[in-house]
Amino acid sequence: MNKKSNNPQVQMVDLKSQYLRIKEEIDNAIAQAINNTQFINGSEVKKFSAELAQYMNCKHVIPCANGTDALQLAMMALELEPGDEVIVPVHTYVATAEVIALLKLTPVFVDVDPNTFNIDITQLEEKVTSKTKAIVPVHLYGQSADMESIMKLAQKHNLYVIEDTAQAIGADYVFSDGKKSKAGTIGQIGCTSFFPSKNLGAYGDGGALFINDDQLAEKLRMVANHGQKTKYYHDIIGCNSRLDTIQAAILRVKLRYLNDYNQQRNKVAEKYDDAFKDVEQLQIPYRADYSTHVFHQYTLKVKNIDRDTFKNELSKEGIPSMIYYPVPLHLQKGYSNYGYKKGDFPISEKLSETVISLPMHTEMEEETQEYIIEKVKKTIG
Ligand SMILES: *Cc1c(COP(=O)(O)O)cnc(C)c1O
Repeated sequence: MNKKSNNPQVQMVDLKSQYLRIKEEIDNAIAQAINNTQFINGSEVKKFSAELAQYMNCKHVIPCANGTDALQLAMMALELEPGDEVIVPVHTYVATAEVIALLKLTPVFVDVDPNTFNIDITQLEEKVTSKTKAIVPVHLYGQSADMESIMKLAQKHNLYVIEDTAQAIGADYVFSDGKKSKAGTIGQIGCTSFFPSKNLGAYGDGGALFINDDQLAEKLRMVANHGQKTKYYHDIIGCNSRLDTIQAAILRVKLRYLNDYNQQRNKVAEKYDDAFKDVEQLQIPYRADYSTHVFHQYTLKVKNIDRDTFKNELSKEGIPSMIYYPVPLHLQKGYSNYGYKKGDFPISEKLSETVISLPMHTEMEEETQEYIIEKVKKTIG
């Protein structure tokens, strides 16, 4: 604990205070799930899936073990085969490309838009070849990618769209005709994660898939469950990926708060925006007109200052910050065999050196945020 009276303990994410605010509901839900002893596929799993489907306004929600699995299950259910090309932004969390590589598909990287941090749709079409089977847009930091353009291109070239919605659950995509859909329900399959720090976080691992097509949903259920529809009859090769009953019970409680949580994150973001919009060395997050933002991260770009020095100085003042992500995927050692080199994706490379994410969570106290803002401004000088 820092002893200085004007120095509140600042955390990147505050899951403890969030828990304490809903402790009774959560504790009851966990106790009930344990009392029922249906630890796998208990009734809470079905109920949570139905409630989330209603929230997302999609036909099927299929729960699974984590967000990475959700992506893998999607590619397995769509019967993507070794050698098939899958287009993916290079500025994202590794999971998106990892499952592509794991299934021996070929990740085809694309640079991102410098403002939205999402896949640059102007560079998308030139990546399409006769081997391309799917596009995986990532709704990074909490804002939807330009889905209307992506869907149009996908339809033109007969490609699947698998949305990585791990960071944007609850965000609304607004079509040009004014119609709204939840990010993650527009492509053939949407994938999300319930990792504890995500906007809808469990108390352990969890994930889910969003599907509107009945047949594809049935296939996905089989893939996630050892390739079986009837127990011990394995029609296809699948895997084992499930959401625990206890996690589903917790998530049912937290889903009721998701809109409040996302609103709280927006309040924090607006306060940061106001404080930093006129600071010359900082670029506040860009808001696309086709998406609401759920601020999984509040990510600034620094201008004409050294990001790492800035981060270190903040840390000395007791302000944590994070870099999402310090190395773009094409420059990661594990992905060096795909033939990319430094300079291939200049926007993402520049972002890896200039982005910095500030503390962002649902429990941010006003005085804590004022303290963060004061120290950020002081550090910049
Ligand atoms: C968190 C995350 C994932 C993976 O989710 P896990 O539940 O940790 O497997 C995938 N993609 C993105 C963009 C993420 O942020």
